[in-house]
Amino acid sequence: MTASRVLVLNSGSSSVKYQLLDMADRSRLAVGLVERIGEETSRLAHEPLATGGGKREQLGPIADHEAALKAVAAELAADGLGLDSPELAAVGHRVVHGGTRFTAPTVIDDEVLAEIRSLVPLAPLHNPANVTGIEVARALRPDVPQVAVFDTAFHATMPDHVAQYAIDAEVAERWSVRRYGFHGTSHAYVSRATARLLGKEPQEVNVIVLHLGNGASASAVRGGVCVETSMGLTPLEGLVMGTRSGDLDPAVIFHLARVGGMSVDEIDSLLNKKSGLLGMCGDNDMREVLRRAGEGDEAARRAFATYVHRLKKYIGAYTAVLGRVDAVVFTAGVGENAAPVREAAVAGLEGLGLALDPRANAERSGEPRLISPAGARVAVAVVPTDEELEIAAQTYELVTG
Ligand code: ADP
Repeated sequence: MTASRVLVLNSGSSSVKYQLLDMADRSRLAVGLVERIGEETSRLAHEPLATGGGKREQLGPIADHEAALKAVAAELAADGLGLDSPELAAVGHRVVHGGTRFTAPTVIDDEVLAEIRSLVPLAPLHNPANVTGIEVARALRPDVPQVAVFDTAFHATMPDHVAQYAIDAEVAERWSVRRYGFHGTSHAYVSRATARLLGKEPQEVNVIVLHLGNGASASAVRGGVCVETSMGLTPLEGLVMGTRSGDLDPAVIFHLARVGGMSVDEIDSLLNKKSGLLGMCGDNDMREVLRRAGEGDEAARRAFATYVHRLKKYIGAYTAVLGRVDAVVFTAGVGENAAPVREAAVAGLEGLGLALDPRANAERSGEPRLISPAGARVAVAVVPTDEELEIAAQTYELVTG
């Protein structure tokens, strides 16, 4: 019997999300989350789907990522899914920034780990936690291949003229300043799933993917290949997000520093953590924004309008980039669930061949589905993303292929 289990780890600064999958049938054996690592009130939520045992919760301090992963291993062992099992084929790690060095999933050795570490200056909020996750998992099962799957990789095919910022070329080169793009695993998975929904091969279709979660990004995918995406050097550029501003005049930063007397760190925190929907109206959760807007709250209505206006601009821009669009697809928390966002983003775009079937748009479902009227020139779709399955699939393919 060949080993077919893959553990997927998504390590954040104070959390670890994990899934254990069996790639023989792509089923999920267990899923869970450790959050508030390093605090007194850490929480481990574990669900062993394979045994149908129901959710379990552990509260109390978990000191660091090593303790977190050991606690996860103990939970899995209690379900007969221990990480010491010979059935474990590999561990797949989500790594946020791969720079220009990593454009495909990569088996991790000491050299690769050192290179991921060297990319920390480009992703100071994310790569350090990813590195820690890799170190801990390697120590736990040194004999099992560890694979890094990069958020930036799918966007590596962007042409140079799209990736470059219009700044001094030497400065850009020296400091690795260019557009990298993020959420690549999701854009890859969803663009392919959309082709399938249309009954086509990925090579045959041009797709605009709108990944609207807490973070949000758009991509233009031509024949399965990413040619443009909205996030740049960091995940700050592009769409309006839960707490990030997205696009803004860079001179806003100089103005806040010179006139507002703010430090670089204060402005960084303002734009990444206190802007977007949260900054504009005080709520970063689209459900709250919609509820308040429905009650006539002016700040919430304007935040919604700004969010949707930005989306529309990107749909228009990426229609121009692609020349011909076969589908516009919504995914992630907001994209999959917020019918009013989809309705408002597409409203008035009949000239681009876009329209919605209001009944299909209002329907709730966890399945990939079309929400445009039959015979529409451009299909509009909702396709649930599954980054963990995609990471597991890429990991498994690399170690068995
Ligand atoms: P993350 O970027 O953290 O992976 P998700 O893709 O899970 O996030 O998206 C989370 C966001 O999705 C929430 O902040 C919330 O705004 C939004 N969301 C979830 N469910 C709904 C819903 N029913 N209606 C509107 N927005 C929703």
